[in-house]
Amino acid sequence: MRQLIDQLEQQRRLTKEEWVTLIAERKDAEYLFERARAVRQKYYGNAVYTRGLIEFTNYCKNNCHYCGIRRENATAVRYRLSMEEIMDCCKQGYDLGFRTFVLQGGEDAFFTDERIIEILTKIKSVYKDCAITLSIGEKTKESYRRFFDAGADRYLLRHETADKAHYESLHPTEMSFEARKECLWNLKEIGYQVGCGFMVGSPGQKAEYLAEDMLFITELQPQMVGIGPFVPHHATPFAKEAGGTVEQTLYMLGLLRLLKPNLLLPATTALGTIDQKGREKGILAGANVVMPNLSPTTVRKKYELYDNKICTGDEAAECRNCLSNRMQSIGYELVIDRGDPKEF
Ligand code: SAH
Repeated sequence: MRQLIDQLEQQRRLTKEEWVTLIAERKDAEYLFERARAVRQKYYGNAVYTRGLIEFTNYCKNNCHYCGIRRENATAVRYRLSMEEIMDCCKQGYDLGFRTFVLQGGEDAFFTDERIIEILTKIKSVYKDCAITLSIGEKTKESYRRFFDAGADRYLLRHETADKAHYESLHPTEMSFEARKECLWNLKEIGYQVGCGFMVGSPGQKAEYLAEDMLFITELQPQMVGIGPFVPHHATPFAKEAGGTVEQTLYMLGLLRLLKPNLLLPATTALGTIDQKGREKGILAGANVVMPNLSPTTVRKKYELYDNKICTGDEAAECRNCLSNRMQSIGYELVIDRGDPKEF
């Protein structure tokens, strides 16, 4: 397996068969992580970028089978943050050293393009030195363009899986695999720093589908890739399904680092949820970003995409401190920086 790992590092692409072999056998993990750390070190040193996550609405018109805030989950307690609350999150975040704010939410019709633009304009007028990432799902190209013109720098839209049949098994029929991918291409064309991504261990996933994810990422060349384990949520159709594993997630992180050396790659909250040291392990496998929560503690528990999500009781300052200590304990350092990708 070392030979394939070396080949990936040197050529930054593999055939589908080679990906399947690596992913299915998952051998030489320690060697992979060593190479991933070396590559990451070259571009980012020991720096870990932070993004302050603001979960501003959990209303959603979609009904993804895996997601706890899906439309049909009647037990979800819905909320929206006001402009004032969002600005409070930014203020707290800025004072703590965050220079990127991620506005994430369900697909909520209340937040019209005009409202999103108003939020973007307001944040950008106060925090000129900060980047804004939007993560609010599928929109028209025109809307994406308007958000970009209003100051959005980055957009996160996980493709979830690059296999059409698998995509259809994770989503209701009104959602389409083609539409999702088209959004990502549109975002790229407009000039966003784009993030795609997938869940590791989602129901029905096979090594072959993960190989397709790697091929899709090779083709799209996104600036960011968000991956984390699938974690079942009790009030969804996938409540009884098995979750993804730490080992598989770490292995995929290592492979992604070698596939794209300057990639912005978060060690996600979901990874921290299934393993007490998940985020540290993620960084040691090649990740270079963490995304602590800035949402008011009053709503944290309500943005429940999956069960047992961590840090729902902590103040933003506690989260930043805790992560800072965790990173230091493994020889890495949270930095005060917008955290743009380094030129490759
Ligand atoms: N509505 C936005 C934001 C979605 S939530 C959008 O469509 O992009 C962000 C991500 O959380 C999703 O893309 C999905 O990959 C992940 N997620 C949702 N439910 C999950 C679960 N049960 N386990 C792990 N990750 C989940």
